[in-house]
Amino acid sequence: MDFQLTDEQRDIRDTARAFVTKELMPLEEAFLRSGAARLPRAQERALQDKARSFGFWGMSTPEEYGGMALPALTQSLIHIELARTCLPFRFGGEADNILYGADAAQQDEYLKPTIEGRRLGCFALTEPGAGSDVSAIRTTARRDGAEWVINGQKTFISNGDEADYAIVIAVTDPGNDARKGSTAFLVDRDAGWTSAPIRTMGSWHQPATLFFDQVRVPAAKVLGDVGAGFDLAKRWIGRGRHVISANCVGIAERCLRLAVDYANLRETFGRRIGENQAVQWMIADSETELEAARWLALRAAWDVDRGADARHSVAMAKLFCCQMVGRVVDRALQIHGGMGYTKELPLEGWYRAVRAMRIYEGTDEVQRLILSRDLLRGFTRIGAHLA
Ligand SMILES: Cc1cc2nc3c(=O)[nH]c(=O)nc-3n(C[C@H](O)[C@H](O)[C@H](O)COP(=O)(O)OP(=O)(O)OC[C@H]3O[C@@H](n4cnc5c(N)ncnc54)[C@H](O)[C@@H]3O)c2cc1C
Repeated sequence: MDFQLTDEQRDIRDTARAFVTKELMPLEEAFLRSGAARLPRAQERALQDKARSFGFWGMSTPEEYGGMALPALTQSLIHIELARTCLPFRFGGEADNILYGADAAQQDEYLKPTIEGRRLGCFALTEPGAGSDVSAIRTTARRDGAEWVINGQKTFISNGDEADYAIVIAVTDPGNDARKGSTAFLVDRDAGWTSAPIRTMGSWHQPATLFFDQVRVPAAKVLGDVGAGFDLAKRWIGRGRHVISANCVGIAERCLRLAVDYANLRETFGRRIGENQAVQWMIADSETELEAARWLALRAAWDVDRGADARHSVAMAKLFCCQMVGRVVDRALQIHGGMGYTKELPLEGWYRAVRAMRIYEGTDEVQRLILSRDLLRGFTRIGAHLA
């Protein structure tokens, strides 16, 4: 059994680490002081250009679209590094993978400009009455001659208030189960949908509610096949989960680092707080949980690369990593005492932001449902985990 990275993986990880350390971390103090939720667009673009000069552009994007098409494991290693900064920065050159199912004209209109950063989309599945149970969606798209007419509401949609187009999953065959009778549509904001931001606990996440009132789109806006909306949606959801696990690992690594440094520095009662067993135990627990999470996250990505059915290991990784990061951030904040509660440090922001990770892209409970159902149907990893 080999726990080593290849030379190539190590090089890419080290380059990502250098980029994050040299280019992003020095901007953290000013960013935290600004109180902003996002980087100004111009600054983000300049940083994306710089990242490109380091070789980071279109990590998941296929080579034919100018991307790097990196294996999931390599992407996870990069995401771990990137998550170590509290700067809300994303590499450029990415688009929702659901868009690769678009036809040639749609690719020109949506996929390519999104990859190039000229357009911003959002993915709209969740509704006020349908979250975990996506089969309960009620937004409809009714055929009317050469057009479809969309009515309904979507909610908690990331980027929903800024996006200039939405990928909307709507029921097109009301007589059927929504999982079989739904279709994906590419809907420009110009077509008439409106949005309202939702105020949330974490400043990173500013989802929105989207309103569709007799929004008309031509038949050419159907993405994929009529009736195949849920198959496409599953592809979108599946992609994010192993990346979220890697993000959790990166955030936890940084929090633990901050906690250890502070425990070695801060003195009370004439000695460093790290000399107290209470603090040592918090550090030891965080280190152990982080290590377990790291291997679950990398294992899940490895399964994705192997082309194996990665659903089980991805569910385990997401469940554990998203809970782990909450505990590690909490302990790091506790070790920092009052300082941890201030906005001088990234800890309080992470404390709020990571809470959402246990909800989006499948709640903890949904991951548990996936895992337990697999086992109850006879799936076993005993003896198979090294196969
Ligand atoms: C910050 C953020 C960003 C998001 N971005 C997007 C986006 O871009 N696009 C999009 O479409 N959606 C997005 N979502 C929505 C997200 O996917 C849903 O919030 C999530 O699926 C949960 O749905 P819900 O909120 O309706 O909760 P519910 O489904 O109502 O669940 C409520 C509680 O009941 C539990 N529960 C539900 N069913 C069961 C069950 N069978 N067994 C046990 N427990 C159960 C849940 O785990 C949860 O604890 C986002 C959400 C957030 C918070």
